[in-house]
Amino acid sequence: MGHHLAGTNATHGGPVGRTDLGGFPMIKFDTIAAIATPHGMGGIGIVRLSGDLALSAAIRLFRPRKRAAQPFKFNHRHIYYGKIIDSDNHSMVDEVLLLVMRAPESYTREDVVEIHCHGGVAAVQRVLDSVLTQGVRLAEPGEFTRRAFLNGRINLSQAEAVVTMVQSPSSMGAAMAAPQLWGALSTQITAIEAELTALLARIEAAIEFIEDTDDHVINAVQLNERFRAALLPLESLLDNYNRYHVYRDGILVVIAGKPNVGKSSLLNALLKSERAIVTPIPGTTRDIIEEKVVINGIPVRLVDTAGLHNTGDTVEALGVAKAADLIATADLVLFMVDGYNGVDERDHAVYQQLRERPFIMVRNKIDLCEQTTPARTPQHWTSDPIVDISATGVAGLEGLSAAIVAKVVQGRPLSQNESPLVPNLRQKSNLLRAVDAIEAAQREFSADGPLELVAESLKSARLYLARISGRQVDDAVLDEVFGQFCIGK
Ligand code: GDP
Repeated sequence: MGHHLAGTNATHGGPVGRTDLGGFPMIKFDTIAAIATPHGMGGIGIVRLSGDLALSAAIRLFRPRKRAAQPFKFNHRHIYYGKIIDSDNHSMVDEVLLLVMRAPESYTREDVVEIHCHGGVAAVQRVLDSVLTQGVRLAEPGEFTRRAFLNGRINLSQAEAVVTMVQSPSSMGAAMAAPQLWGALSTQITAIEAELTALLARIEAAIEFIEDTDDHVINAVQLNERFRAALLPLESLLDNYNRYHVYRDGILVVIAGKPNVGKSSLLNALLKSERAIVTPIPGTTRDIIEEKVVINGIPVRLVDTAGLHNTGDTVEALGVAKAADLIATADLVLFMVDGYNGVDERDHAVYQQLRERPFIMVRNKIDLCEQTTPARTPQHWTSDPIVDISATGVAGLEGLSAAIVAKVVQGRPLSQNESPLVPNLRQKSNLLRAVDAIEAAQREFSADGPLELVAESLKSARLYLARISGRQVDDAVLDEVFGQFCIGK
């Protein structure tokens, strides 16, 4: 990306008020278009245009159903019923509703036109093709939202909330994104920035005062309270991240165990009992079986290592290495044993592979154990309760789901009506740096160090916070954020 951003600076450093809705200079871009609805059949499909040519393209391609006054003029936030015509032969392309939003009151702050047409794959494409004959080019992924950011309508955390909202497979993840769309996180960060600025003002006043009088008059107790006031909300945001980010970001759960304990059966059972996430993008051929489900609100990538063991010798070795890799990166391993046929050397070998990882002992085939007691596993393997299930009998799965969630959120699951403000990874790393800088300032202050150093640390804390809203951010970060979008967003 970048070539179409002619006219913008390479970096967005400097104290530009991106969140300030007044007086932000609009950047001139070319006009872009894309299909804004998912690829596939649907009731309606939407082609969206943004830029200076959006309205003139619409004028040329759209014919209202009712004869309208000439010259025909589009009004802001009005919807028009009519048809799209082919600009060459004037044949009808589709019957549409056309929605007009004039700059600056639009998603991108540019002129925006949405053409609501029939939702077939070819139908939407035909409308888009017509639009692209009008000096309009196809948008890059995330480009509409990028413009909304560059034109100062939303800040970077709000743009990130858009990605989260669009991509979230779980309703908890979407619930977390909703308040951030309207800037809940940035509002809190701005308040902390103000706190730091007030603190800095005092320190700087004290610096001047000392220069004047060579006397150290500064209320240490009061100032320490101010340090706390800045740190507390940051720490609580970081705490929210640690506790709840899995509800948005999801986890990798790997099912491990010797052959025939029932790993594939469990994967299938979980797919049926929990909400399976159907991804529209067809997967490439893989030798590991991976599925996505939402377990009690947490998006889970569920991997079955079974397929890794049962082919020829070289593949076997490769498979074992892959299984080891997966286990090493898993957020949680389900260590499956056969509760009926018992535990042997091969289970010990699997245990050696996963013992350093967070895992849950799952004892399968419990349906066969009505007359017998389930096989015992060595006591030193785990102090957690063992979860008994029957993968084929579909028993014990609720208990397993609850155990999975309890393990990853350290026993503090999120309840339905809780909606904490949860930063994402990028925001979290800037929050961490800000906390470090404020703590450094506090230490320097307590150790009676030079106040100039205290001030420097506070300034760098403010800089890290400014990165969260994107007031201090370079193109690489923007590319990373907007690269996660799909085309049309
Ligand atoms: P994997 O090699 O670990 O993936 O094991 P599979 O899922 O392929 O299961 C191996 C065999 O055990 C199959 O014949 C399954 O039908 C059977 N099996 C799996 N789970 C259960 C269970 O809970 N109860 C019983 N009775 N049989 C099971």
